Amino acid sequence: MRLRLLGELNDFLPRAQRGQSQAITLTRRAAVKDVLEAIGVPHTEISLVRIDALAAPMSNVLMSGSDAHIVAAPWTPAARRADWPDAPPAFVADVHLGGLVRRLRLAGFDVAYANDRDDADLAAISDIEHRVLLTRDRGLLKRARVRHARFVRCDATQAQYDDIVAHFGLADRMQPFTRCSDCNTPLDTVAKTDIVHRLEPLTRAHYTHFARCPVCDKLFWGGSHVADVQRRL
Ligand SMILES: [Zn+2]
Repeated sequence: MRLRLLGELNDFLPRAQRGQSQAITLTRRAAVKDVLEAIGVPHTEISLVRIDALAAPMSNVLMSGSDAHIVAAPWTPAARRADWPDAPPAFVADVHLGGLVRRLRLAGFDVAYANDRDDADLAAISDIEHRVLLTRDRGLLKRARVRHARFVRCDATQAQYDDIVAHFGLADRMQPFTRCSDCNTPLDTVAKTDIVHRLEPLTRAHYTHFARCPVCDKLFWGGSHVADVQRRL
C-alpha cells in the first residue's frame, strides 16, 4: 500500500520522510487506524482518511498485501469549529501543561487539570465529560477512548497557547476575566467596597472592577490579568 500524510500530520514523521508518499507492506490485515498509529500518527490528529480517493472510516480493515492508496488529512479550524458550533470546547490537560492551562483559563476557557491524574484518568475525563484532551504524550492519544484531542507540539507556553487558539478557532470566543486561573471556577463580580481592605495601595488607586473566585477566594481585577491576556491577542 501507499500512504501519504497531508499538512501538519507530517509533524509526526522523521524529517526526511515528510511530504513524501511512502510504501508500506502489510504482512497481516490491519485497520487504517492501526497502520497510521504504527508510523506515529495518533488517530485523534486525523480528520479525514481517503482510501483510493474515497472517504472511509479509520476502522476500515486493509488486507495483507493490500495495494490501496491511503491519504490522511489533519483537522482544520473550520472543521473543529463545526464540531463546537455554539460554544468553545472544554479541555482537559495533562500534568506537563500547567502554564498553558493558566493562560487558557485567563482567556475564559474551561480547562480541567490536576497534577495527580494518570493516563487512564485523563482518557476517562475526556470521554465522559466530552473534553478535548491536550497532551504532549502520543501514547495517550492512541487510546481508543480518547476521541477529541490536540497533540501539543511546542515547548514554550506562549507558542502552545497560540497553537490552541488558532487550531480551535478561539480568537473570537475569549471571555477574559471570567474564570479562576488557579481552580477553573467561574468568577463572581464583587463590589470594590467589599474587598478594598485586601488591595495593595496601587491596585486600590487604579482599578474599579473586581472579580472573586467563590471557591479559592482569589481576587482578579482589570489590571495585570486582563492586560496580560489582551496583550496576547
Ligand atoms: Zn479559584
